[in-house]
Amino acid sequence: MTKEWLGGTTIFAEMSALAVRTGAINLGQGFPDTDGPEEVREAAVRALREGKGNQYPPGPGVPELRTAIAEHQLKRYGLVHDPDTEVLVTAGATEAIAAALLALVESGDEVIALEPYYDSYAACIGMAGGTRVPVTLRPRNGAYHLDLDELRDAVTDRTRLILLNTPHNPTGTVLTREELAAVAELAVERDLLVVTDEVYEHLVFEGEHIPLASFPGMRERTLTISSAGKTFSFTGWKVGWVTGTPELVTAVRSAKQFLTYVASGPFQYAIAEALRLPESYLEGLRADLRAKRDLLSAGLAAAGFEVYRPAGTYFVTTDIRPLGESDGFAFCRALPERCGVVAVPNAVFYDHQKQGAPFVRFAFCKRTGVLEEAVSRLRGL
Ligand code: PMP
Ligand code: GLN
Repeated sequence: MTKEWLGGTTIFAEMSALAVRTGAINLGQGFPDTDGPEEVREAAVRALREGKGNQYPPGPGVPELRTAIAEHQLKRYGLVHDPDTEVLVTAGATEAIAAALLALVESGDEVIALEPYYDSYAACIGMAGGTRVPVTLRPRNGAYHLDLDELRDAVTDRTRLILLNTPHNPTGTVLTREELAAVAELAVERDLLVVTDEVYEHLVFEGEHIPLASFPGMRERTLTISSAGKTFSFTGWKVGWVTGTPELVTAVRSAKQFLTYVASGPFQYAIAEALRLPESYLEGLRADLRAKRDLLSAGLAAAGFEVYRPAGTYFVTTDIRPLGESDGFAFCRALPERCGVVAVPNAVFYDHQKQGAPFVRFAFCKRTGVLEEAVSRLRGL
Protein backbone atom coordinates (compact mmCIF):
# COMPACT_ATOMS: atom_id res chain seq x y z
CA MET A 1 0.00 0.00 0.00
CA THR A 2 3.00 2.35 -0.05
CA LYS A 3 2.66 5.49 -2.15
CA GLU A 4 -0.18 4.07 -4.20
CA TRP A 5 -1.06 7.64 -5.20
CA LEU A 6 2.28 8.15 -7.04
CA GLY A 7 2.01 8.73 -10.77
CA GLY A 8 -1.77 8.85 -10.85
CA THR A 9 -4.13 11.75 -11.39
CA THR A 10 -7.26 12.23 -9.33
CA ILE A 11 -10.52 11.04 -10.77
CA PHE A 12 -11.66 14.67 -10.80
CA ALA A 13 -8.75 15.77 -12.99
CA GLU A 14 -9.22 12.74 -15.26
CA MET A 15 -12.93 13.34 -15.70
CA SER A 16 -12.63 17.11 -16.15
CA ALA A 17 -10.00 16.49 -18.85
CA LEU A 18 -12.40 14.04 -20.50
CA ALA A 19 -15.13 16.71 -20.44
CA VAL A 20 -12.82 19.24 -22.10
CA ARG A 21 -11.65 16.71 -24.69
CA THR A 22 -15.16 15.59 -25.65
CA GLY A 23 -17.03 18.85 -25.08
CA ALA A 24 -19.39 16.97 -22.75
CA ILE A 25 -21.29 18.60 -19.87
CA ASN A 26 -19.13 18.22 -16.78
CA LEU A 27 -21.15 16.90 -13.85
CA GLY A 28 -18.04 15.12 -12.56
CA GLN A 29 -15.76 17.42 -10.59
CA GLY A 30 -17.64 19.35 -7.92
CA PHE A 31 -17.24 23.03 -8.72
CA PRO A 32 -19.95 25.62 -9.39
CA ASP A 33 -20.19 27.01 -12.93
CA THR A 34 -21.08 30.45 -11.59
CA ASP A 35 -18.99 32.48 -9.17
CA GLY A 36 -19.90 33.44 -5.63
CA PRO A 37 -21.31 36.80 -4.48
CA GLU A 38 -20.26 39.94 -6.33
CA GLU A 39 -19.55 41.83 -3.10
CA VAL A 40 -17.11 39.13 -2.02
CA ARG A 41 -15.28 39.34 -5.34
CA GLU A 42 -15.18 43.10 -4.90
CA ALA A 43 -13.75 42.63 -1.42
CA ALA A 44 -10.93 40.55 -2.92
CA VAL A 45 -10.23 43.22 -5.54
CA ARG A 46 -10.18 45.87 -2.82
CA ALA A 47 -7.74 43.81 -0.75
CA LEU A 48 -5.45 43.39 -3.76
CA ARG A 49 -5.57 47.12 -4.54
CA GLU A 50 -4.96 48.11 -0.93
CA GLY A 51 -2.02 45.77 -0.69
CA LYS A 52 -3.67 43.55 1.90
CA GLY A 53 -2.28 40.05 1.72
CA ASN A 54 -0.09 40.59 -1.34
CA GLN A 55 2.89 39.54 0.77
CA TYR A 56 3.00 36.54 3.10
CA PRO A 57 0.08 36.81 5.49
CA PRO A 58 0.61 35.67 9.12
CA GLY A 59 1.15 31.90 9.42
CA PRO A 60 -2.13 31.19 11.23
CA GLY A 61 -4.13 33.38 8.82
CA VAL A 62 -5.05 37.07 8.87
CA PRO A 63 -6.63 38.14 12.19
CA GLU A 64 -9.75 39.49 10.39
CA LEU A 65 -10.53 36.03 9.00
CA ARG A 66 -9.68 34.13 12.17
CA THR A 67 -12.01 36.42 14.11
CA ALA A 68 -14.79 35.96 11.52
CA ILE A 69 -14.40 32.15 11.71
CA ALA A 70 -14.58 32.21 15.52
CA GLU A 71 -17.71 34.40 15.31
CA HIS A 72 -19.27 32.00 12.79
CA GLN A 73 -18.68 28.98 15.05
CA LEU A 74 -20.13 30.84 18.04
CA LYS A 75 -23.16 32.32 16.29
CA ARG A 76 -24.19 29.15 14.50
CA TYR A 77 -23.18 26.41 16.86
CA GLY A 78 -22.43 28.00 20.22
CA LEU A 79 -18.80 26.85 19.96
CA VAL A 80 -16.38 29.25 21.61
CA HIS A 81 -12.94 29.51 19.99
CA ASP A 82 -10.10 31.90 20.67
CA PRO A 83 -9.19 33.29 17.23
CA ASP A 84 -5.54 33.54 18.23
CA THR A 85 -4.95 30.00 19.45
CA GLU A 86 -7.88 27.89 18.26
CA VAL A 87 -8.37 28.89 14.63
CA LEU A 88 -6.00 28.21 11.73
CA VAL A 89 -6.48 29.24 8.10
CA THR A 90 -5.32 26.67 5.52
CA ALA A 91 -4.96 26.36 1.75
CA GLY A 92 -8.44 24.89 1.38
CA ALA A 93 -9.80 21.99 3.36
CA THR A 94 -7.40 19.81 1.37
CA GLU A 95 -4.39 21.21 3.19
CA ALA A 96 -6.23 21.09 6.51
CA ILE A 97 -6.84 17.36 6.02
CA ALA A 98 -3.24 16.71 4.98
CA ALA A 99 -1.70 18.78 7.77
CA ALA A 100 -4.01 17.29 10.41
CA LEU A 101 -3.11 13.74 9.41
CA LEU A 102 0.60 14.47 9.07
CA ALA A 103 0.59 16.09 12.49
CA LEU A 104 -1.47 13.55 14.39
CA VAL A 105 -0.82 10.15 12.81
CA GLU A 106 2.28 8.12 13.67
CA SER A 107 3.57 5.34 11.49
CA GLY A 108 1.38 2.27 11.99
CA ASP A 109 -1.55 4.14 13.53
CA GLU A 110 -4.97 3.18 12.27
CA VAL A 111 -7.33 5.82 10.93
CA ILE A 112 -11.00 4.99 10.57
CA ALA A 113 -12.73 6.69 7.64
CA LEU A 114 -16.25 6.39 6.31
CA GLU A 115 -16.23 4.60 2.97
CA PRO A 116 -16.88 5.77 0.27
CA TYR A 117 -14.41 8.51 1.21
CA TYR A 118 -13.17 11.69 -0.40
CA ASP A 119 -10.08 10.76 -2.39
CA SER A 120 -7.50 12.78 -0.49
CA TYR A 121 -8.20 10.86 2.72
CA ALA A 122 -6.61 7.66 1.49
CA ALA A 123 -3.60 9.47 0.03
CA CYS A 124 -2.99 11.59 3.14
CA ILE A 125 -3.41 8.72 5.59
CA GLY A 126 -0.80 6.93 3.48
CA MET A 127 1.55 9.95 3.40
CA ALA A 128 1.32 10.14 7.18
CA GLY A 129 2.33 6.48 7.44
CA GLY A 130 -1.04 5.42 8.80
CA THR A 131 -3.25 2.51 7.90
CA ARG A 132 -6.76 3.26 6.81
CA VAL A 133 -9.64 1.28 8.19
CA PRO A 134 -12.77 1.82 6.13
CA VAL A 135 -16.22 1.64 7.66
CA THR A 136 -18.66 1.30 4.79
CA LEU A 137 -21.83 3.38 4.54
CA ARG A 138 -24.56 1.06 3.23
CA PRO A 139 -27.30 2.03 0.79
CA ARG A 140 -30.76 1.26 2.13
CA ASN A 141 -34.21 2.73 1.42
CA GLY A 142 -32.91 5.43 -0.88
CA ALA A 143 -30.13 6.69 1.41
CA TYR A 144 -26.75 5.68 2.81
CA HIS A 145 -26.47 4.74 6.47
CA LEU A 146 -23.69 4.37 9.02
CA ASP A 147 -23.72 1.04 10.85
CA LEU A 148 -22.71 1.98 14.38
CA ASP A 149 -21.82 -1.60 15.29
CA GLU A 150 -19.41 -1.74 12.36
CA LEU A 151 -17.87 1.52 13.52
CA ARG A 152 -17.48 0.20 17.06
CA ASP A 153 -15.94 -3.04 15.77
CA ALA A 154 -13.44 -1.12 13.67
CA VAL A 155 -11.79 0.46 16.71
CA THR A 156 -8.66 -1.36 17.91
CA ASP A 157 -5.83 -0.55 20.29
CA ARG A 158 -3.99 0.99 17.34
CA THR A 159 -6.80 3.35 16.32
CA ARG A 160 -5.48 6.90 16.49
CA LEU A 161 -8.39 8.82 15.08
CA ILE A 162 -11.67 8.79 13.24
CA LEU A 163 -11.80 10.87 10.07
CA LEU A 164 -15.44 11.82 9.75
CA ASN A 165 -17.21 13.64 6.93
CA THR A 166 -20.69 15.08 7.25
CA PRO A 167 -22.50 16.17 5.08
CA HIS A 168 -20.88 13.32 3.21
CA ASN A 169 -19.24 13.37 -0.21
CA PRO A 170 -20.14 11.42 -2.38
CA THR A 171 -23.32 9.95 -0.85
CA GLY A 172 -25.00 13.18 0.31
CA THR A 173 -25.76 11.64 3.70
CA VAL A 174 -26.05 14.01 6.66
CA LEU A 175 -25.32 12.18 9.90
CA THR A 176 -28.16 12.52 12.40
CA ARG A 177 -27.92 13.77 15.97
CA GLU A 178 -28.23 10.15 17.20
CA GLU A 179 -25.46 8.90 14.90
CA LEU A 180 -23.17 11.75 15.88
CA ALA A 181 -23.90 11.20 19.56
CA ALA A 182 -22.91 7.56 19.15
CA VAL A 183 -19.66 8.52 17.38
CA ALA A 184 -18.94 10.99 20.18
CA GLU A 185 -19.61 8.41 22.89
CA LEU A 186 -17.31 5.94 21.16
CA ALA A 187 -14.54 8.54 20.79
CA VAL A 188 -14.75 9.42 24.48
CA GLU A 189 -14.94 5.79 25.59
CA ARG A 190 -11.93 4.74 23.50
CA ASP A 191 -10.07 8.04 23.94
CA LEU A 192 -9.87 8.80 20.21
CA LEU A 193 -9.31 12.01 18.32
CA VAL A 194 -11.75 12.93 15.57
CA VAL A 195 -10.95 15.00 12.52
CA THR A 196 -14.26 16.05 11.06
CA ASP A 197 -14.57 17.38 7.53
CA GLU A 198 -17.61 19.65 7.49
CA VAL A 199 -16.98 21.53 4.24
CA TYR A 200 -20.62 21.09 3.19
CA GLU A 201 -21.96 22.38 6.54
CA HIS A 202 -24.21 24.94 4.85
CA LEU A 203 -25.41 22.72 2.00
CA VAL A 204 -28.08 20.77 3.88
CA PHE A 205 -31.58 20.29 2.45
CA GLU A 206 -33.03 17.76 4.90
CA GLY A 207 -32.20 17.43 8.57
CA GLU A 208 -29.57 19.70 10.09
CA HIS A 209 -25.84 19.90 10.28
CA ILE A 210 -24.56 19.49 13.82
CA PRO A 211 -20.81 19.86 14.39
CA LEU A 212 -19.35 16.89 16.18
CA ALA A 213 -17.36 19.28 18.39
CA SER A 214 -20.63 20.38 20.03
CA PHE A 215 -21.26 16.96 21.64
CA PRO A 216 -20.28 16.29 25.26
CA GLY A 217 -16.61 15.51 25.67
CA MET A 218 -15.82 16.29 22.03
CA ARG A 219 -14.52 19.84 22.05
CA GLU A 220 -11.20 18.69 23.49
CA ARG A 221 -10.71 15.83 21.03
CA THR A 222 -12.09 17.20 17.75
CA LEU A 223 -10.50 19.12 14.92
CA THR A 224 -13.18 20.67 12.74
CA ILE A 225 -12.41 21.46 9.10
CA SER A 226 -14.36 23.68 6.74
CA SER A 227 -13.84 25.64 3.54
CA ALA A 228 -15.02 28.80 1.82
CA GLY A 229 -14.87 26.97 -1.50
CA LYS A 230 -18.24 25.28 -0.95
CA THR A 231 -20.06 27.88 1.14
CA PHE A 232 -19.23 30.84 -1.08
CA SER A 233 -18.62 29.14 -4.46
CA PHE A 234 -14.97 30.14 -4.75
CA THR A 235 -13.27 26.77 -5.06
CA GLY A 236 -10.25 28.34 -6.77
CA TRP A 237 -9.45 30.66 -3.89
CA LYS A 238 -8.44 27.77 -1.63
CA VAL A 239 -9.39 29.28 1.69
CA GLY A 240 -10.10 26.65 4.34
CA TRP A 241 -9.72 26.44 8.08
CA VAL A 242 -9.53 24.26 11.18
CA THR A 243 -10.83 24.94 14.65
CA GLY A 244 -10.02 23.00 17.82
CA THR A 245 -8.07 23.17 21.04
CA PRO A 246 -4.81 25.14 21.10
CA GLU A 247 -2.87 21.89 21.34
CA LEU A 248 -4.52 20.30 18.29
CA VAL A 249 -4.49 23.48 16.22
CA THR A 250 -0.81 24.05 17.03
CA ALA A 251 -0.05 20.52 15.85
CA VAL A 252 -1.78 21.21 12.52
CA ARG A 253 0.00 24.55 12.19
CA SER A 254 3.34 22.84 12.75
CA ALA A 255 2.73 20.59 9.76
CA LYS A 256 1.11 23.32 7.67
CA GLN A 257 4.10 25.65 7.96
CA PHE A 258 6.18 23.15 5.99
CA LEU A 259 3.51 22.47 3.37
CA THR A 260 2.39 25.88 2.08
CA TYR A 261 3.38 28.01 5.08
CA VAL A 262 0.61 30.44 4.00
CA ALA A 263 -1.71 30.93 1.03
CA SER A 264 -4.47 33.05 -0.53
CA GLY A 265 -3.53 36.36 1.18
CA PRO A 266 -6.04 38.82 -0.38
CA PHE A 267 -8.75 36.18 -0.53
CA GLN A 268 -8.55 35.70 3.21
CA TYR A 269 -9.74 39.30 3.70
CA ALA A 270 -12.59 38.75 1.26
CA ILE A 271 -13.74 35.56 3.00
CA ALA A 272 -13.73 37.41 6.33
CA GLU A 273 -16.37 39.66 4.78
CA ALA A 274 -18.21 36.72 3.21
CA LEU A 275 -18.64 35.07 6.61
CA ARG A 276 -20.57 38.15 7.70
CA LEU A 277 -23.04 38.11 4.80
CA PRO A 278 -26.67 38.15 5.96
CA GLU A 279 -28.42 34.83 6.52
CA SER A 280 -30.42 35.44 3.33
CA TYR A 281 -27.27 34.60 1.34
CA LEU A 282 -27.09 31.08 2.75
CA GLU A 283 -30.85 30.62 2.47
CA GLY A 284 -30.65 31.62 -1.20
CA LEU A 285 -27.73 29.25 -1.85
CA ARG A 286 -29.60 26.36 -0.25
CA ALA A 287 -32.87 27.10 -2.06
CA ASP A 288 -31.04 27.27 -5.38
CA LEU A 289 -29.19 24.00 -4.79
CA ARG A 290 -32.29 22.25 -3.45
CA ALA A 291 -34.15 23.05 -6.69
CA LYS A 292 -31.17 21.80 -8.70
CA ARG A 293 -30.96 18.64 -6.62
CA ASP A 294 -34.62 17.97 -7.33
CA LEU A 295 -34.24 18.71 -11.03
CA LEU A 296 -31.26 16.40 -11.49
CA SER A 297 -32.61 13.65 -9.22
CA ALA A 298 -35.92 13.57 -11.09
CA GLY A 299 -34.14 13.64 -14.44
CA LEU A 300 -31.82 10.78 -13.50
CA ALA A 301 -34.75 8.72 -12.21
CA ALA A 302 -36.64 9.38 -15.46
CA ALA A 303 -33.54 8.22 -17.38
CA GLY A 304 -33.66 4.90 -15.50
CA PHE A 305 -31.07 5.35 -12.75
CA GLU A 306 -31.83 4.41 -9.16
CA VAL A 307 -31.28 7.69 -7.34
CA TYR A 308 -30.04 8.30 -3.80
CA ARG A 309 -31.46 11.76 -3.29
CA PRO A 310 -28.94 13.58 -1.10
CA ALA A 311 -29.86 15.30 2.17
CA GLY A 312 -26.78 17.51 1.77
CA THR A 313 -23.75 18.42 -0.46
CA TYR A 314 -24.07 19.10 -4.17
CA PHE A 315 -23.71 15.52 -5.35
CA VAL A 316 -26.23 12.85 -6.17
CA THR A 317 -25.22 9.19 -6.14
CA THR A 318 -26.97 6.79 -8.50
CA ASP A 319 -27.05 3.05 -9.07
CA ILE A 320 -26.62 2.14 -12.73
CA ARG A 321 -27.82 -1.46 -12.44
CA PRO A 322 -31.41 -0.64 -13.51
CA LEU A 323 -29.83 0.49 -16.81
CA GLY A 324 -28.35 -2.97 -17.25
CA GLU A 325 -24.87 -1.71 -16.31
CA SER A 326 -22.66 -2.79 -13.43
CA ASP A 327 -19.22 -1.22 -13.92
CA GLY A 328 -19.26 2.47 -12.98
CA PHE A 329 -15.73 3.03 -14.31
CA ALA A 330 -16.55 1.72 -17.77
CA PHE A 331 -19.89 3.53 -17.70
CA CYS A 332 -18.30 6.90 -16.84
CA ARG A 333 -15.54 6.51 -19.40
CA ALA A 334 -18.11 5.79 -22.12
CA LEU A 335 -20.76 8.31 -21.04
CA PRO A 336 -19.34 11.38 -22.85
CA GLU A 337 -19.35 9.50 -26.16
CA ARG A 338 -22.74 7.96 -25.52
CA CYS A 339 -24.60 11.10 -24.48
CA GLY A 340 -22.27 14.03 -23.82
CA VAL A 341 -22.27 14.00 -20.02
CA VAL A 342 -19.40 13.43 -17.55
CA ALA A 343 -19.89 11.80 -14.14
CA VAL A 344 -17.61 10.18 -11.56
CA PRO A 345 -17.48 6.46 -10.66
CA ASN A 346 -17.91 6.04 -6.90
CA ALA A 347 -15.63 2.97 -6.93
CA VAL A 348 -12.63 5.31 -6.67
CA PHE A 349 -13.85 6.28 -3.20
CA TYR A 350 -13.74 2.68 -1.94
CA ASP A 351 -11.14 0.25 -0.69
CA HIS A 352 -13.75 -2.41 -1.30
CA GLN A 353 -14.06 -1.38 -4.94
CA LYS A 354 -16.64 -4.08 -5.66
CA GLN A 355 -19.00 -2.44 -3.17
CA GLY A 356 -18.76 0.81 -5.09
CA ALA A 357 -18.72 -0.64 -8.62
CA PRO A 358 -22.31 0.09 -9.72
CA PHE A 359 -22.52 3.60 -8.26
CA VAL A 360 -21.96 6.85 -10.12
CA ARG A 361 -21.92 10.43 -8.81
CA PHE A 362 -23.31 13.50 -10.58
CA ALA A 363 -22.71 17.10 -9.39
CA PHE A 364 -25.61 19.56 -9.49
CA CYS A 365 -23.78 22.82 -8.67
CA LYS A 366 -24.34 23.93 -12.26
CA ARG A 367 -26.68 26.41 -13.99
CA THR A 368 -30.26 25.24 -14.37
CA GLY A 369 -30.07 25.30 -18.16
CA VAL A 370 -26.95 23.12 -18.06
CA LEU A 371 -28.67 20.59 -15.79
CA GLU A 372 -31.76 20.57 -18.04
CA GLU A 373 -29.60 19.89 -21.08
CA ALA A 374 -27.75 17.13 -19.21
CA VAL A 375 -31.02 15.53 -18.16
CA SER A 376 -32.36 15.58 -21.69
CA ARG A 377 -29.15 13.98 -22.97
CA LEU A 378 -29.25 11.31 -20.27
CA ARG A 379 -32.83 10.41 -21.25
CA GLY A 380 -31.40 9.27 -24.55
CA LEU A 381 -29.35 6.53 -22.89
N1 PMP B 1 -13.42 17.54 1.73
C1 PMP B 1 -14.43 17.18 0.95
C2 PMP B 1 -15.41 16.17 1.46
C3 PMP B 1 -14.58 17.71 -0.32
O1 PMP B 1 -15.58 17.34 -1.10
C4 PMP B 1 -13.62 18.66 -0.77
C5 PMP B 1 -13.70 19.26 -2.10
N2 PMP B 1 -14.22 19.44 -2.86
C6 PMP B 1 -12.58 19.01 0.07
C7 PMP B 1 -12.51 18.42 1.31
C8 PMP B 1 -11.52 19.98 -0.34
O2 PMP B 1 -11.90 21.27 -0.14
P1 PMP B 1 -11.00 22.50 -0.65
O3 PMP B 1 -11.37 22.73 -2.08
O4 PMP B 1 -11.37 23.61 0.23
O5 PMP B 1 -9.58 22.10 -0.52
N1 GLN C 1 -14.21 18.08 -3.95
C1 GLN C 1 -14.47 18.07 -5.36
C2 GLN C 1 -15.31 16.86 -5.70
O1 GLN C 1 -15.55 16.01 -4.87
C3 GLN C 1 -13.22 18.01 -6.20
C4 GLN C 1 -12.00 18.60 -5.68
C5 GLN C 1 -10.80 18.18 -6.49
O2 GLN C 1 -10.82 18.21 -7.70
N2 GLN C 1 -9.79 17.76 -5.82
O3 GLN C 1 -15.70 16.78 -6.83
